[in-house]
Amino acid sequence: MPASDTSLATSARVSAAERPRVTTTVGVLALQGDVAEHLRAIAASGARPVQVRRPAELDAVDGLIIPGGESTTIWKLLSIFDLADPLRERIAGGMPVFGSCAGMILLASRLVDRASDQESLGAIDMTVRRNAFGRQADSFESDITLTGAGFDGAPFRAVFIRAPWVEEVGPGVEVLATEPRTGRIVAVRQGPALATAFHPELTQDNRVHTIFTTMVTELRE
Ligand code: GLN
Repeated sequence: MPASDTSLATSARVSAAERPRVTTTVGVLALQGDVAEHLRAIAASGARPVQVRRPAELDAVDGLIIPGGESTTIWKLLSIFDLADPLRERIAGGMPVFGSCAGMILLASRLVDRASDQESLGAIDMTVRRNAFGRQADSFESDITLTGAGFDGAPFRAVFIRAPWVEEVGPGVEVLATEPRTGRIVAVRQGPALATAFHPELTQDNRVHTIFTTMVTELRE
């Protein structure tokens, strides 16, 4: 057998042993918001990224990311695309979800400053205040520390864009990070649900996506 065949066979064996992680499918709710950036970060975390716009696509994913954008718009589109009820059912069934910014708002059980026709999915027992960091700080970056849920505690450059904060959490919610200037909660986990007020997909630091992919893979196995 030529040397190249041997090395191919060897690499196939090695990757087969590591395969479970690679076959994890993580969807991105692709109705509005920064979908492409999340797809890139999912691929970098070792999972297979797919866009979710239809109930059948939702059925096929192991976990789902709800991106940043505009939570009121995403909520309206969820209803129009007949995804609100299927998404609630999958979340109730334990599907891992990660929401960033508008996605965090959608995962909350209670909202402050919500639009009159805006609902949320209630995946995390928390009260989230929309646009909490205010106009003057519409957009800013901050070095935060993420701890718990497998994070290593190394500084993380967090990008906040018209960001919410978490005003209050229930007893089952783990606080993963606060924003240093305000002391406000900006990253949480409750069971298979993870949320950040900032946008980890906008930096090259893939730790949040990697931890989410690990959560999805572990729950799948
Ligand atoms: N303020 C937006 C909202 O209410 C969220 C902003 C964002 O996702 N970058 O949905």
